[in-house]
Amino acid sequence: MSFRKAFGRRANGDLASAISLNRRQFLWSATGAMAGTTLFPVTRALGATAVPRAPKAVVVTFGGGARDDETFAEDGLENIPHMLNELMPRATFFTRVVNRGILGHYVATASLATGAYETFNNFAAVPPDHPTVFEYFRRDLKRPASDTWVVAPSNGFNRIGESGHKEFGQGQGAGVILPKRLLADALAGKTGDYDHLLRDNYESPMYAPALAGNEVQIHQLAEALTLSVSDFTSHAKNLASPDELSVYVAKQLMRKLAPSLVWITLHDIDIAHSGTFSLYIDGIRRSDRLCAEIWNTIQSEPEYAGRTTMFILPDFGRDSDQSAGGNGFQHHRTGDAISRTTWMMVLGPGVRENVIVDRPVESVDLVPTLGARLGFDARFSQGKPLVEVS
Ligand SMILES: [Zn+2]
Repeated sequence: MSFRKAFGRRANGDLASAISLNRRQFLWSATGAMAGTTLFPVTRALGATAVPRAPKAVVVTFGGGARDDETFAEDGLENIPHMLNELMPRATFFTRVVNRGILGHYVATASLATGAYETFNNFAAVPPDHPTVFEYFRRDLKRPASDTWVVAPSNGFNRIGESGHKEFGQGQGAGVILPKRLLADALAGKTGDYDHLLRDNYESPMYAPALAGNEVQIHQLAEALTLSVSDFTSHAKNLASPDELSVYVAKQLMRKLAPSLVWITLHDIDIAHSGTFSLYIDGIRRSDRLCAEIWNTIQSEPEYAGRTTMFILPDFGRDSDQSAGGNGFQHHRTGDAISRTTWMMVLGPGVRENVIVDRPVESVDLVPTLGARLGFDARFSQGKPLVEVS
């Protein structure tokens, strides 16, 4: 029986727990993972590698908006072979991550980055109200601007690097790299071969924010990465999508500058708004492959290997096939349980491997958890550190 048939008719209130229960049972059988709270053997806990000094972290948001049905549910596992077979055996996996905030990509990703539910208009070019993880990290650990970066899609994310909070803010956050915009600048209008990489914003209203915030310009990036603009554009020509361009830039950044806190927001999946299911699935498969690629980069780069925690989580889900007023996978407009309930995978030194945590947690717990691992205090966050990986 399919997952959807088994659980689709339950009332919304029960659905989140049904999803979680189903996924936990299914993942146990699919991967042989252990329950984090009951089955974890003490000997492994004692043998776990201690978190080394000066830890690093890479956060990948798996989006925009991916449902359980097409990822970590029975029908979805075929779309995520890399996460399932390569990453899951090394991960602690949270089956029930609930996002209680606004389900728009910029505002939701900003909420992930502040650990507080931001309430600004998703389509406005404003900074988050609460301090970002980048500001906490830099202030508490006395790190320079070069030690933390965001690589994001272009649609409005240029302000995500630092907040408008009165105790933090300007000049204290992360540099923001918007690869699509850099490519458009580098091409100076000659975009013919690159249209597939420049596609931006899968939702209306169409939105083209003015340059502002900490956005890095093409010549600055080229200089920082010792990468010529022509190398950048010629490499881009071989890439299939904006997310591939983002990961290419992130890998260059990691190799050349080795920042300690890297945030990568994937967004190809949001092509689901077009209504074409196969393109949505292509986006998920690509994101799955790119997540494994990022993990492999972490393992192969001496500055990252053995000291880096990787977090992978969708910003939120998409609408259920059953929601009245929704249109299934296409959008995220109803705010139903399916669109709010998602998952998170955590991998790295000292993180227990092949463990499933079933208790409900929230999207806003990410930043305090990063704080616990890296050593800063996310004092304005609404979330709590996840003890299973802190
Ligand atoms: Zn969307």
